[in-house]
Amino acid sequence: MYKIDCNEIKNKYELEELVKMFLKPNDYVLFNNETVQNSLEEKNSNESVWKEIQIPDGITDKNEGKRYLFEKLSAETGMHPDWGILTGVRPGKLAGEYLKKGKNFQEIRTLFKNFYYVSDEKIDLLIDLCENQKRVFANCEKKDVGIYIGIPFCPTRCVYCSFTSNQATEEKINWYLDALLKEIAYVGKRMKESGIFAESIYIGGGTPTTLSTEGLKKLLFIVSMHFDLSHLKEFTVEAGRPDTITKEKLQVISDFHVDRISINPQSMKPRTLELIGRSHTPEQIVDAFAMAKDIGIEHINADLIAGLPEEEPEDFEESLRQIIKLAPQNITVHTLAVKRASRLIDMDAEYHYHQGERVRKMLDISKQLMEDNGYVPYYMYRQKHMSGNFENVGYAKPNTESIYNIRIMEENQTIIALGAGGISKVYFPDENRLERVPNVSNYEIYVERLDEMLERKEKGIFIPLKAEENGGI
Ligand code: SF4
Repeated sequence: MYKIDCNEIKNKYELEELVKMFLKPNDYVLFNNETVQNSLEEKNSNESVWKEIQIPDGITDKNEGKRYLFEKLSAETGMHPDWGILTGVRPGKLAGEYLKKGKNFQEIRTLFKNFYYVSDEKIDLLIDLCENQKRVFANCEKKDVGIYIGIPFCPTRCVYCSFTSNQATEEKINWYLDALLKEIAYVGKRMKESGIFAESIYIGGGTPTTLSTEGLKKLLFIVSMHFDLSHLKEFTVEAGRPDTITKEKLQVISDFHVDRISINPQSMKPRTLELIGRSHTPEQIVDAFAMAKDIGIEHINADLIAGLPEEEPEDFEESLRQIIKLAPQNITVHTLAVKRASRLIDMDAEYHYHQGERVRKMLDISKQLMEDNGYVPYYMYRQKHMSGNFENVGYAKPNTESIYNIRIMEENQTIIALGAGGISKVYFPDENRLERVPNVSNYEIYVERLDEMLERKEKGIFIPLKAEENGGI
């Protein structure tokens, strides 16, 4: 048990994410002078068994404080988190910013090692990733944006899910769809009036293929009718759950020139699929791949999760080998994150604390297998509460990388998000600043307050754009 005194660092929350990598929530209190009383009272613990760590006088810089705590806590716990003092979710973005400032890869390597305490292995991953991104995509055109359209429904709720995902009747889904189509029509019209083009369209969720074949057809028809697709480089529909995929739906997807889908096994082990609450079998995954290939969909991504309940590294390896045999162009290896909104956290609040070593082995396996089979890492992000504080990595066969995934992680393009839970991000390149414009996340409230969502878009996206007309967005 630790009492950690932030001393002259005013905002203790800056340090808390780092401390959480080493210690469970009940094993420490973190305080500065103003908060000490509250923190200690909150914990209501016997002070005599607590060890004290104090950031020395004179340290006021957040990163210096983090480095001090990292060294202390490493010595205490024997742990050396691979991402060092980096607690943000986008290390790739940070590396990209240094590149833009004129640093070369060797300088970035030194900086990440000595300043951020990142392990050599993760620095290698970062550099690989930056090189691949640089090779594939230049900066985007000023007036090109990414479009995200959310379908917040799934057939069942996975045990680790923290997304906007609802199980609803067909009637409710159609009710939502009607409102969404209005938002698409409005945004499409305003984009045309403002001279903005869609560079990529990503229909995600939830699981978009939860829509009926008719619903999907209606959605794709409205999208193709209202958006100017002359700048479009890729069009994705997440068909994540194999139990929602049919030949008819895939045909509709292909008829509307969608060139990317995701089929997400997460695991190929039947027992795991049952445990995590997915209502499909490994055979359905194989069938979905076969159907998509038959129909001629160009790019398929497959998601896999490291650290699922009761899985050992051998199970993960077996799943990955089976997925590689299905020959998707992209494979995204996620590390299980156990967030507050998930059912898994109710079952085991400390789940991600005791998965670290197992997940490390799984990620090592994935790195090797991906390399052996010709996949390169091309985008990465981290989340809070990830097992072992690792990362999610998107791998691709060279030249099949998804532009949407890169742009959204590097946060260097405006993303206009439609539907319940969609958070638009308006990018102002001259200031390197993002402004968030959220829709509400509850789909029923979204339908009821659709006019307000359109107004938010007008005020948050189209009016600022007009004001910046000469500089663009
Ligand atoms: S498929 Fe994704 S969005 Fe749907 S319940 Fe599972 S984790 Fe949540």
